[in-house]
Amino acid sequence: MQDRSAPARTRLGVLGWPVAHSRSPEIQNAALRAAGLSGWRYQLLPVPADLLAPVVHGLPQAGFRGVNVTIPHKEPALALATAPTARAQAIGAANTLVFEADGRIVADNTDAPALLEALPIEIAGASALVLGAGGSARAAVWALGAAGAREVRIWNRTAERARQLGHELGADAVSVAGPADVLVNCTSVGLNGARSLEGLPISASDLGDFRCVVDLVYADSDTELVRAAREHGVPAVGGLELLIRQGALSFELFTGVPASLEVMRAAVAPGQPAAAPSGGYGANQ
Ligand code: NAP
Repeated sequence: MQDRSAPARTRLGVLGWPVAHSRSPEIQNAALRAAGLSGWRYQLLPVPADLLAPVVHGLPQAGFRGVNVTIPHKEPALALATAPTARAQAIGAANTLVFEADGRIVADNTDAPALLEALPIEIAGASALVLGAGGSARAAVWALGAAGAREVRIWNRTAERARQLGHELGADAVSVAGPADVLVNCTSVGLNGARSLEGLPISASDLGDFRCVVDLVYADSDTELVRAAREHGVPAVGGLELLIRQGALSFELFTGVPASLEVMRAAVAPGQPAAAPSGGYGANQ
């Protein structure tokens, strides 16, 4: 039953540890303003792992309608939900929690549909190579398979993790990166702003073997992978675009109204000062 003494739920945030460099507040607050939701606010919520459960359970009473969830809380957040979507359950991780008036905690994963929306080619019937086997790779592998990819291969620095993920989600672990229609980088390579592809199983000259490249990593400017792909004439999508798209899908779950992608993009366009103290490279959400 709804608690009538509870404050209006107009607060939002991103739970992570660390989370100081996240660009989600800029993106989300710009979209809230543009949608005329003047009483709403989106904030950073730095929370260590041992405090996640009590904080999540206290957020609704503190006026929170929902939160995004980032490293390292995506899997534990799913476990705290009382109403996980089938998608979040299949992926095994949640990036969005919504606190319903009846007390339910809904968990969803908008990273997966955001990737599919951002892909510049039709994925049904296509082949994909996913680099990485962590939380974001899990969402990417599931999304590509669910959208009808003919073949999804996983390469990871620690081969055993790729084998495990492939076994769970029905994809093939590989030790060598070969050509595919889509290349998705879900490793952290590039997060430190390195101007090389060191750590990945491909070099810049291999990028012509792909019809498009997606890099989940985001930085103040294009990552080396995105830059090199474009230099080879291959369409590339950067991590900021994915951040915006997953954020827009979460925004709609929180507020019930669509977010403006244009407004969100403008909020973090190069030249816009980062609102959070930042060395330039973000947390993943
Ligand atoms: P995670 O669970 O910690 O996984 C990290 C992955 O990167 C693992 O597969 C790890 O391999 C690999 N890795 C780390 N350092 C490496 C290196 N030097 N060389 C090769 N591989 C390396 O992280 P995640 O949540 O999947 O996130 C991965 C990246 O995606 C992060 O940069 C994050 O910021 C970004 N991300 C962006 C968005 C977005 O909206 N744009 C959303 C989610 C994530 P091992 O298994 O061998 O350690």
